[in-house]
Amino acid sequence: MKTSRKNKLIKDKNHDPYYEGRKYPDGVVCPACRALYQGGHWLWSKEVEILTPSSSEQNLCPSCRRIRDNYPAGIVSLRGQYLMRRREEILNLVNRVVEEQAGKSPLKKVIDREEKEDGVVFQLTDDHMARTLGEAVYRAHKGDLKIKYGDQARFVRVSWTRDIP
Ligand SMILES: [Zn+2]
Repeated sequence: MKTSRKNKLIKDKNHDPYYEGRKYPDGVVCPACRALYQGGHWLWSKEVEILTPSSSEQNLCPSCRRIRDNYPAGIVSLRGQYLMRRREEILNLVNRVVEEQAGKSPLKKVIDREEKEDGVVFQLTDDHMARTLGEAVYRAHKGDLKIKYGDQARFVRVSWTRDIP
């Protein structure tokens, strides 16, 4: 019975390869970003909790494992002539959203940011974060937004384009 349940999980459209099958004890710290595992979740910790960790165990959190493996859960590409003209303004908005998202959860991080001739591509550790980012740009600047989910693992590709005007 155990095997069939496992197969079902693997076939599940929403299966996340970075899902943590086992729970860590409270107080586990991610050695890369210093996130703290508590009550079944990875959280940003207060300095004092890190100085006196309740457990000496260390484990990379899922987002730091994605960064190590260069394995994004979301890719956001921003392109078009309009972007090139208002690049600074749009990238400032993106940075604000990234900061806000990253502040909410250690699982929301930027893996990589690639400057292209006709745009910018972001690789992110979280699919919801990718969607939030694309929607924020679309709300502020209109244009054309496409959101496409992968059919196997937890993955989303968000593409925003706008040409002049
Ligand atoms: Zn981490």
